Amino acid sequence: MQDPDNHATDHADRLRRLDRLRQPMVVRLGVLLGGFCLLLLCLHGWSLWASRQHQLEQTGISTANMARALASHAERSIKIGGGILSEIVERAEHDSLEGESGERIHQRMQAIVAHTPELQEVFIYGPDGTRLASSLPKLVRGNNADRPYFQYHKTHTDLGVLVGKPIYSRSSGVLAVPLSRRINRPDGSFGGVAMASLKLQFFGKFYDSFDVGPTGTILLALDDGTLLYRRPFKESMVGSSIAEGPVYQLYKKHGPVGTAMLVSRIDGVERLYSYRHLDGFPMIVATAQAKSEILAGWWVAVIKMSCVVLFAVAVLAWGGKRMIGQLRVREALEDELRRARASLEVHNVSLRVLADSDGLTGLANRRRFEETLATEHERARRSRRPFSLIMTDVDFFKKYNDRYGHVAGDACLRLVARAIASGPHRPADLAARYGGEEFAVILPDTDLDGARAVAEKIRAAVEALAIPHADSPTGFVTLSLGVYTGHAAIDGSDVPSDWVAAADGMLYQAKAGGRNRLAARARMAVAA
Ligand code: GH3
Ligand code: MG
Ligand code: MG
Repeated sequence: MQDPDNHATDHADRLRRLDRLRQPMVVRLGVLLGGFCLLLLCLHGWSLWASRQHQLEQTGISTANMARALASHAERSIKIGGGILSEIVERAEHDSLEGESGERIHQRMQAIVAHTPELQEVFIYGPDGTRLASSLPKLVRGNNADRPYFQYHKTHTDLGVLVGKPIYSRSSGVLAVPLSRRINRPDGSFGGVAMASLKLQFFGKFYDSFDVGPTGTILLALDDGTLLYRRPFKESMVGSSIAEGPVYQLYKKHGPVGTAMLVSRIDGVERLYSYRHLDGFPMIVATAQAKSEILAGWWVAVIKMSCVVLFAVAVLAWGGKRMIGQLRVREALEDELRRARASLEVHNVSLRVLADSDGLTGLANRRRFEETLATEHERARRSRRPFSLIMTDVDFFKKYNDRYGHVAGDACLRLVARAIASGPHRPADLAARYGGEEFAVILPDTDLDGARAVAEKIRAAVEALAIPHADSPTGFVTLSLGVYTGHAAIDGSDVPSDWVAAADGMLYQAKAGGRNRLAARARMAVAA
């Protein structure tokens, strides 16, 4: 028995399962586009970071090179000063500083200062600190015994060049770095000091020739942290200590050469510093460029490239969104179409079921019975297999109607139909309402014994219903059944209606035999 409602629910279930299985294309496309945009942004970020690092590395290399050039310049200047001091010490130790010899030394000292741009002035002091000779046009007498370099040489016997802390010259008032050497008497005792002062402006002029940007810096300091020069130059800072500053701390930590990003203690600007200790002299030079200036060009590139990348991502996202929107609409339409087609299919199935079934009992109707009988008859003919048909009729049903009325008659027919439907159990079997209170059961590929068993089962099922029928000798509604088993291959002239007639004949026999029984006959197969 086919139920249209069950069919519709099955179909809806199948659709729901399909919907769940099908991962929406829009989601996949959205994830793909989102992932691509993210990848693009990540690549962009990575390339910017790499170019930033490259820029800082390159600037680090160039500031390190600059520190090397500055150091060798300072070394050369001090060596020149040292050479001059050697000559003056030599003369002071061997020649008299009085009279003609003294005048010759004076002229030589004047010539040296005139031809050496690094030098401010040159002095010779006696063992008590008195000025004995100078590069000045006229010697101004005075005593420099209080100067730290004088005190140093007086108490130290080494003959090396001493680089002193910057001082203001007492004769010219100019700020300079004193280079000094001890003068020995022939017996090795302290014979005075020769001093040549280096002009700070000389360094300043040289340092100004380097481009370190508006906030870049160059500095020269003694290795005890005393600042000699710093660009931009401020005289008040000369002689101050940078020992607590980041460059000096880095030097103390990492040794003679280094490069690092540091924040200046003086102006708070973050700079990339390169410093270098002078070879053979107690001084360090450092140069630095402000990070903001190093990365200024890079920032311009960042903004330009980011605009391009963001524009590309925006276009991609916009295009993707549009595409997803269109896909959504398409999918929605396809869904609607699919649902419409499915419901149409369900509808068609329902219609087909309705068209094939009997309105009162729900069994297959006469039309379906005829179709199935023809199909199965043909199949049996081809397969040379037996084929059974049961025709059945309710006993004394006219009387039942007469006594209980047509409505009760209809209800009785529904119960009887259900009992008949419970008889056959193979999928190919078909129970149908043949007409009125007559029913038929098609049993393909079933021999006489099988058909008889089904018929008996039906009969017993109806009897078991025990529907009262006062005008029946049994007192209950009963069935008579005619069973016919044939073999379509036996007689080629056999047609389906012949089978119905044969089964009907058996039904007649069952009626004649007393009702509530079955009569059966088979036509035996013979080889074709
Ligand atoms: P028998 O034992 O020889 O078959 O006696 P019977 O009274 O059943 O005889 P018959 O087959 O000639 O009578 C059929 C009766 O079944 C006629 C009609 O009153 C009744 N009938 C046929 N179709 C329907 C139906 O759809 N509903 C109802 N209520 N009665 C029907
Ligand atoms: Mg009848
Ligand atoms: Mg009848």
